Amino acid sequence: MGTENRRAVVTQEMDFSHLEEHILMRLDKALNDHEIKVYYQPVVRTLSEKLCGMEALARWEDPEYGLLPPDRFIHVLEKHKLIHLLDLYSIREVCKRYSRCRQQGILPVPVSVNLSRLDFEAVDVLQEVERIVGEYEVPKEVIRFEITESVLTEHADEMQKWIRELQEAGYEVWMDDFGSGYSSLNVLKDYAFNELKIDMRFLSDFSARSREIIASIVDMAKRIGIHTLAEGVESREQKDFLLSIGCEKIQGYYYGPPLPYEQCLLELKDKGIDRESPAEQQYYDEIGKVNVLSANPFDFHEEAKESEFLRSSDLALALLEFDADVQGFRAIYTNDACKKALKLLGYSEPQEVVNAIKARSFPAAGRFIKALDRTRTQGSEIFNYVDGGDYCSVKLKLISSSGSRSAILYSLTDISRNTDMERDRKLDGSLRHLYAIYNEVYLLHIDKGYLEVLTTDNQEAGERQHGSIKDIVTRYAAEKVYDEDRPHYLKFFDTDTMEKKIRESQKGFINAYIRTIDGHGNYSWKIYLAFIVKPEHVLVMVRDEDTAKGNVWNHYRKDYFMEEEKEGYSEDISPEILWQNALRWTEWVFSGRIGNDVSWE
Ligand code: C2E
Ligand code: MG
Ligand code: MG
Repeated sequence: MGTENRRAVVTQEMDFSHLEEHILMRLDKALNDHEIKVYYQPVVRTLSEKLCGMEALARWEDPEYGLLPPDRFIHVLEKHKLIHLLDLYSIREVCKRYSRCRQQGILPVPVSVNLSRLDFEAVDVLQEVERIVGEYEVPKEVIRFEITESVLTEHADEMQKWIRELQEAGYEVWMDDFGSGYSSLNVLKDYAFNELKIDMRFLSDFSARSREIIASIVDMAKRIGIHTLAEGVESREQKDFLLSIGCEKIQGYYYGPPLPYEQCLLELKDKGIDRESPAEQQYYDEIGKVNVLSANPFDFHEEAKESEFLRSSDLALALLEFDADVQGFRAIYTNDACKKALKLLGYSEPQEVVNAIKARSFPAAGRFIKALDRTRTQGSEIFNYVDGGDYCSVKLKLISSSGSRSAILYSLTDISRNTDMERDRKLDGSLRHLYAIYNEVYLLHIDKGYLEVLTTDNQEAGERQHGSIKDIVTRYAAEKVYDEDRPHYLKFFDTDTMEKKIRESQKGFINAYIRTIDGHGNYSWKIYLAFIVKPEHVLVMVRDEDTAKGNVWNHYRKDYFMEEEKEGYSEDISPEILWQNALRWTEWVFSGRIGNDVSWE
């Protein structure tokens, strides 16, 4: 080492020891005179891009050294067991700020404050916190505590106790810098944190490997019910990635560095970032629990099952936000598999489907909206339809509600294209198609005078899943059927003659056109069809007169009809031909499958 260099090192060391001395000498004054300031860095909700929190970070504006970042003084304060003075000061400053805002009628977002493990050794943290929070009348939910992962492995028992006490008193405790230590997984196992802040070093190189690790962390955190936040987000690309894997919150220079409070708010305003309300916070916290990386995202409330540890992004998933007031919706999240599935169906982006449904140009648009509305009130729904010759099955589950808004998890299975489902499709393919076309399907057990609802669009009908044919038909005739059509309806459902009539019909089925009343008091034409699936078992299918979509017939013909009888049928296949075909298939399906499932005694 040359003389120059050696001199530089010596000067630096002197500088450090001088700074250390300076810090120790000046700490009290710096705290009293507010030379130490709390800066605020925004935390933004990934899904809504709204401000959902802030982190309080200390800055020392020193008259001699200028602006000192935490890495210059935190370790000195820790070394001399003085860090609790800074941390309690920060908590006090945050509470003061909160109470000032509230006096001005502003409801600020929650703020997280960093704690050191040495704080717990120096003072009774909970007691001190309660004192300050009480003094400023700050609700406990708006102060969160961050504890860095690396300090959690030593004296774990004590640390667990302290953290639990804070949580039991009503405060959230977050793990800071997750992944920075050597035993992150053990820490996760031993502590019940409310939220995990993923260390920024995973994002810094943003390699495929790092992305994989971040995705695994988010996946794992959701399995054990911990919220996720990624630190150090600096680019749009990183933000998009975090959105795609379901990481709930983002903090980093992309949304802004730590700044004095007023300045931080001004910057957010410039960027057009609004503040999240407490109601929105609850709403999005619930949504955040959905694990879009799971093979079974619909079961997120249940204990993780072994089989679920298989990561799968094959399932086409989206989060829809349904607004009951306007009976409309938008997609707030779609995963890659969903985008791909929609592309195969001919839509270049999710919004196109939403628009098509709005414009009622999407197959079964009305039923889709109804299904969303039912999910809102009933919690879940399975809904099938045919689109451009593809048979699609949609699963819906209510995740969260706020006012008229509901977040609904949506999965799409394009059964026609899913070759793995080939076997299933062969098994009950015809029934699935019939369910897609018909609004209601009943199975009549003629011998027992018993009616069973197999599928229905009609909420009220759903209430009477099983029952005496006579009772149901008589009641329905009186309440719903148009006066003039009532005799015809009752004759159609006359079980003494029904089977005979079907057998004697040339087509193998009987039909009836009946007007029934809907929930709005309007009558509309319904087509009723009945055919025998096995002795004493009649299937009755009901559909609106106008739901016969061309592509439904085409699809049906292509898959179940043309294969066997390729010649001699024109393009415009009639419902009658369809029915003869359905009859063959259904007889087979029922004898093998459904027939054994049906039991009610
Ligand atoms: P931390 O709690 O993990 O805080 C995040 C640090 O990352 C902050 O550094 C912040 O300025 C920085 N950062 C945020 N976004 C980005 C980004 O997009 N890119 C990059 N490269 N950096 C980003 P800061 O303020 O220097 O704080 C450093 C550490 O000092 C904090 O890490 C925290 O552990 C500690 N600290 C800060 N204030 C306090 C305090 O009042 N008490 C205690 N005990 N520790 C504190
Ligand atoms: Mg922190
Ligand atoms: Mg951190």
